[in-house]
Amino acid sequence: MDRLQVTTPESMPEEAVADAALRPSRLDEFVGQEQVKASLQIAIDAAKGRRETLDHTLFFGPPGLGKTTLAMLMAREMGVQLRTSSGPVLEKPGDLVGLLTSLGPGDMLFIDEIHRLKPALEEFLYPAMEDYRVDVRIADGPNAQTIPMALERFTLIGATTRFGLLTPPMRARFGLVERLNFYPPEDLEQIVARSAAILNVPIEEAGTVEIARRSRGTPRVANRLLRRVRDYAQVKADGRITAAVADSALARLNVDEFGLDDMDARILTTIIEKFGGGPVGLGTVAVAVGEDAGTLQDVYEPYLIQQGFLERTPRGRCATALAYRRFGLTPPAGQTTIFDG
Ligand code: ADP
Repeated sequence: MDRLQVTTPESMPEEAVADAALRPSRLDEFVGQEQVKASLQIAIDAAKGRRETLDHTLFFGPPGLGKTTLAMLMAREMGVQLRTSSGPVLEKPGDLVGLLTSLGPGDMLFIDEIHRLKPALEEFLYPAMEDYRVDVRIADGPNAQTIPMALERFTLIGATTRFGLLTPPMRARFGLVERLNFYPPEDLEQIVARSAAILNVPIEEAGTVEIARRSRGTPRVANRLLRRVRDYAQVKADGRITAAVADSALARLNVDEFGLDDMDARILTTIIEKFGGGPVGLGTVAVAVGEDAGTLQDVYEPYLIQQGFLERTPRGRCATALAYRRFGLTPPAGQTTIFDG
C-alpha cells in the first residue's frame, strides 16, 4: 500500500516548492513552540553580543513540526549561510569534508536525520564539532597517514525524529538541545490562517478550525490539508472554505475528526481485533499492518499516544478504552482510559 497519505507528516516529493512558499521567513512568524523560540532567541542574542558562533544545536521531535524551518530562521537571524544535508545521504568522510570545508566563518551546517549518520562519519564529526578540525586520511593501507585540516568555526544543527537513537557522545556535543512538540489546535489555526492568506484563499474561521483540528498536531499536514481543501472548494463550491466545505473535502480524503487516517485506524483495529487490545510488541504490530517498525514508532505512534489512543508499556503496545470507543467497540472490563498528560 502506498503509505504516503494525506496526513503523512513527512514531506512528499512534490511538496518542496509549495512548502518553501509557506515557510516562515522570520522567527516572529514562526507560530507556537514558545519555549523553544525563547531559548533560541537568548542563544542568538548572546552569540551575537559576544560575536561568537552559535552553539551546536539539536532539534528533536516528530516530522513536520518545524525543525528545518528553525534551522533556516537561525541562520537568517545570525546573518550566516546554511548548508543542508542529511544522515542517509552522507556516505563517506569525503562527503563531510566537502561540506565542512565549504563553510565560511560562523556558517551553519544542517544535518537532518542525524541519527542515521554512519558511525565512521559520526566519529569524524567529533573533532570538527569540538576543535574545528578534521583529520583527512591521505593514503590507505600500512602507510596510511592522516593530516589535520583546520575548519572555520561553524555551527552544526542536527535534527532527528529519534533522540534515543543518537549515541551519547553525539548528544553530549550539542550545547543546545530542543524538543519540538505537537502543536495545539489554536496554533494550527494561526498557521492555517497565515497560509491561506499567503495562498490567497478565502477561508472562514470555522473552516480554519476544521482543518486545524484534523492536522495531527503538525504544521506540514495543516498546510497540505489546506491545499487539498482549497482545490475541493474551487471545484465543488465557490472557492470559499467554509466549515462544511472543509468537512466534506476532508471526509473524501479519509481524514476523520481527530485527524486519524487509514494507517492510524489500521494500527488500532489490529491491536484490538488481532491481539485482544494488547500488550503486543511493536515488531508484531508492524508485520501485521505491513509497515516498517521505525516508521510506526516515529510517525504514527507519537500522535496516537498524545491523543490517548495508544499506550506504550514495558510489555508492549496497548489500545486504550478511548481507542475502542473510537471504533464503536466496548472496551474489555477493567480497561480504563489512562491519560498521562
Ligand atoms: P521538519 O523539519 O520538522 O520535518 P519543517 O521545518 O520542514 O519540518 O516544516 C514543515 C512545514 O511546516 C514548513 O514548510 C513550514 O511551512 C511549516 N511550519 C512548520 N512549523 C511552523 C510554524 N511553527 N509556523 C508556521 N509554519 C510552520
